[in-house]
Amino acid sequence: MRFAKSLLASVVLCSVPAWPARAELDVTKLKQSIETSFESEYPQLDALYKDIHAHPEIGFQEEKTAAKLAAEMRAIGFEVTEKVGKTGLVAIYKNGDGPTIMVRTELDALPMEEKTGLPYASHDQQIWHGRETFVDHSCGHDIHMASWVGTAKTLVGLKDQWHGTLMFIAQPAEEEAAGAKAMIVDGLFTRFPKPDVGFALHDGPGAYGTIAYRVGVGSSNSDGLYIKFHGRGGHGAIPQATIDPVMMAARFVVDVQSVISREKDPTEFGVISIGAIHSGSAGNIIPDDATLVGTIRTFKPEVRARMFAGIERTARAVAVMAGAPLPDIRITEGTKAIVNDPIVVGAAVKVLKAAFAEKIAATPPGTPSEDYSEFINAGVPSMFFNIGVYDPERVAAARNGSGPPLPGNHSPLFAPVPKPTIQTGVTAMTLAVLSAFDERAKGQ
Ligand SMILES: [Zn+2]
Ligand SMILES: [Zn+2]
Repeated sequence: MRFAKSLLASVVLCSVPAWPARAELDVTKLKQSIETSFESEYPQLDALYKDIHAHPEIGFQEEKTAAKLAAEMRAIGFEVTEKVGKTGLVAIYKNGDGPTIMVRTELDALPMEEKTGLPYASHDQQIWHGRETFVDHSCGHDIHMASWVGTAKTLVGLKDQWHGTLMFIAQPAEEEAAGAKAMIVDGLFTRFPKPDVGFALHDGPGAYGTIAYRVGVGSSNSDGLYIKFHGRGGHGAIPQATIDPVMMAARFVVDVQSVISREKDPTEFGVISIGAIHSGSAGNIIPDDATLVGTIRTFKPEVRARMFAGIERTARAVAVMAGAPLPDIRITEGTKAIVNDPIVVGAAVKVLKAAFAEKIAATPPGTPSEDYSEFINAGVPSMFFNIGVYDPERVAAARNGSGPPLPGNHSPLFAPVPKPTIQTGVTAMTLAVLSAFDERAKGQ
């Protein structure tokens, strides 16, 4: 609450008026107010960040993490509902009539061992799929949580400047692409207001202080591929009496790449990767069957459909060539691509460009996937943007080859520089939310 008072004081000192409809945001003054307040409040956010980083939790097990965020949000004045979609949180702050703007963070970490050697590195373990594993915030969701709390504090401090409802949600299990859906199924948009606009951010191995955004497609469709080739097992020295499923698997892995190079439009994005092959037990035994597990990534539905058809045809053809029965083919629908709303992005980018100048840029979509798309597909026009985490000089050196490559998300060495990264997250997200309130006010 100390933050709210100091921020309001600085807003008054800066003489930023409560803007009427159609007023332009005074971005320079707002940014100064946000940064001054951030400076005084940072020690608290730093402690929260390092505590969450040191004690990460895997998807749907984020109970302590959710409890920490619930306490923070209640202290700021939000009404908090816990256990939405198992471990998710919904925090609501009402401030008069106006639109509902949603801001999402993730809660979960990854089942891997941290190797950064940082003083606040995680040494925690949890049970995951029946076995004990180290846990690490190597996707940077801890940065998102600290930025989320900081943004909530800032916006409450600026409550004279906007009217409506803040809906801050913390979703579980993003890494398993299951948490967003779990919250929606548990009544996220029926038990709580349906947001008019939504925002989320993700950090990555760029320079801190920088923002990347996209209009339209921002991440890939992700679908799972499972194929089982049925052969006829036998002696490795008598192959003529067998149908070799290892040969079929090998041929498929190579031939399926021609779906990418010959069937798909070369100017469109599409990837097929086979990440696992399971077959056989010994060198002199031709096994009965071979199983392949892979992932299919695309941006556009029509490319996705074309690739599915090509993959299935290739798998069947490989079996026919070998004189084998047709294979079992299963394509499991995963995460859909994020499609950023042009009006939401347009309004936010105008404000963010005024605040960040050349440090904000439009970039091509990323090829990983994100289940934030569930919220968009449920009808929340949104902007999903990215922020960098490393010293700009180290990033420049890595890019021009004069310095070592920097660890990215999911690396055991991923180590954001906390303060400037969280500061960018708070400043950018606060301004983005204010742009959405302002845009809606103009439209009234
Ligand atoms: Zn991740
Ligand atoms: Zn992530």
